[in-house]
Amino acid sequence: MSPDCNDLLLILNQTSDPVFFLSPDFVFIWTNEAYAEYMGFKREEILSMSLENVIAVEYAPVLKTKFRSISPDNRIFENIYPSVLTDGSIILETWHNEGIFDEQGELKYFYCIASLKEESREKKPLSPMQTNLVSSTLLGTSLIGIIISVDNEIQYINGKCKEILGVYSEMKPGMNLSRLFNDYFGDSAEELLSAQLRNTTDNWEIEYHHPDGHDSWLSIVRKAQRYNGKNADLLLVEDITERKLNEIEIKTARNRLADVMRIAGVGYWERDFENKRWIWSDETYDIYNVTRGTLIRDEDIESAVLPEFRSSRTNRIEELLNNKKQKGFFRFEYKIQPFNMEPKWIEGEGFLENGTDPDKKRFYGWVRDLTERKIFEQELQKAKEKAEESERLKTFFLANMSHEIRTPLNAIVGFSDLLTRDPSDDEKVKFKSIINQSSKLLLKIIDDILDISSIEAGTLDIQSEQLILGDIFNEIKFLFLENDKPDIDLNIIIPGESACVYADRERLKQVIINLINNAYKYTSEGSITLSASKNNNEMVISVSDTGIGIPPEEQEHIFERFYQSDTFSKGTGLGLTISRSIIEQMGGKITLRSEPGKGSTFILTLPA
Ligand code: ADP
Repeated sequence: MSPDCNDLLLILNQTSDPVFFLSPDFVFIWTNEAYAEYMGFKREEILSMSLENVIAVEYAPVLKTKFRSISPDNRIFENIYPSVLTDGSIILETWHNEGIFDEQGELKYFYCIASLKEESREKKPLSPMQTNLVSSTLLGTSLIGIIISVDNEIQYINGKCKEILGVYSEMKPGMNLSRLFNDYFGDSAEELLSAQLRNTTDNWEIEYHHPDGHDSWLSIVRKAQRYNGKNADLLLVEDITERKLNEIEIKTARNRLADVMRIAGVGYWERDFENKRWIWSDETYDIYNVTRGTLIRDEDIESAVLPEFRSSRTNRIEELLNNKKQKGFFRFEYKIQPFNMEPKWIEGEGFLENGTDPDKKRFYGWVRDLTERKIFEQELQKAKEKAEESERLKTFFLANMSHEIRTPLNAIVGFSDLLTRDPSDDEKVKFKSIINQSSKLLLKIIDDILDISSIEAGTLDIQSEQLILGDIFNEIKFLFLENDKPDIDLNIIIPGESACVYADRERLKQVIINLINNAYKYTSEGSITLSASKNNNEMVISVSDTGIGIPPEEQEHIFERFYQSDTFSKGTGLGLTISRSIIEQMGGKITLRSEPGKGSTFILTLPA
């Protein structure tokens, strides 16, 4: 006894493999539970539906063509239908399709049964609903190009893929995947094909020369997996030219902006209200001497600002932030002490944009290191003051000089005239002495003027040679044997023969004589002492007096050109300036110790 038709249908209904029967005009006439469930329908719903209402729209015409090719001599065809799940896995459904004919050779119906068994037991069982949905929507109407290949043979290419690659007719199922890569992706083909590992997903962004002539950028995702003993590949091809160009443009613009900010030394800052921190550009980090990328909180900035600027800074920021206006602005200039560094001046501007949404409040601005400009400004101010002072002193000097020169000159002219008028012998001696002294004074003034001119012109000629200091002191002693103030003791302590100094003999004498002359000028009683001592490689020569002394505030000025503390004093105000230039040019130094009312000591230090 053989089973009847109903028995057979009952058995088919219980198989876990999907089974269905189609009429010759592709209407479902019978399905089992497994197929209905697999497609996500109720069994009764499917019956009387046509093929295109149930399977993927894209695939129905392909399948119909294959069914139509069935004949009594060629009753069976098998097809592998690739489906993509939402997790990206590819399911290969293997369908057995068969035409059932009556004795006259008339087609009665088609009979189809699928094998959905997976090779790996660990794999998630197939979700029929997903398969159907994803297959039909993702494959067919996707905005992404899709290629599915099995064992290197392309099974499926969607229209979008052909459009992206700009190739239509040549790209067909059955084509070899490696050939497609080589033909269309040229230099990148090798890399794309090198994804040998199965069950991996790789991403590439490649440049693609579109056949219409334009250069484009493609994103290619390749998911390779083993399925039912076969190598399955899903390729997703996307045209990302616009995104890529935007990225390049944004990157270029960002780099240019960074360049400009670096060149200008300007840093950007922004307050991140949500996270209570500050966003800084690299330059801002550099200005504060903080490692780039460090998290910056309110207290970090606050502690960097010097205490005297802190409260005014905080007040101004608070005032601005509490401002209800749409926009706010403030300029700042204060001193900071970055970690491990000298304090520096910074300047900048802050902008507040309140907007309509309180969450969208923006507070941002720029900052720049101002230290160099501040130093420059201070130096400029000093130079200006110095120039003004120098100008004032010069004017005074010129006025004074005419008086200084005229006095001895008048004496010379006047007393020379008197000499011609037959004076007595006593008068002759007196007149000659006055003429002699006035000539010396005049000569001294003219010498000073010539010296200062040479110093200013940088042409003062100074030779350095080894000198025995004792000889020089002896010569000076001789010069001062006669002087106008015999009450004042002049002590010249002659050093031993070994005391030597490297200097210009005449110029050194000139300086010491000038210092002794000054000491006489500003000392009314007591003594003047010239002495020398050796200190390492230096010879220290000092001229001290018990005179009026020099107030501390004047001590730093007396070496300046034309400076005279007392405008009634006799002299050009050039002596110490000349002395300092001479000593410095000989590689030495001139310093001063003085106490008003007690006296002064001028110290020369020279190489020994
Ligand atoms: P001057 O020709 O006016 O003496 P100097 O350059 O030699 O010019 O001295 C500058 C000023 O320094 C003097 O006007 C004086 O005020 C002060 N000075 C120099 N030497 C002494 C000293 N030994 N004691 C007190 N004041 C002095």
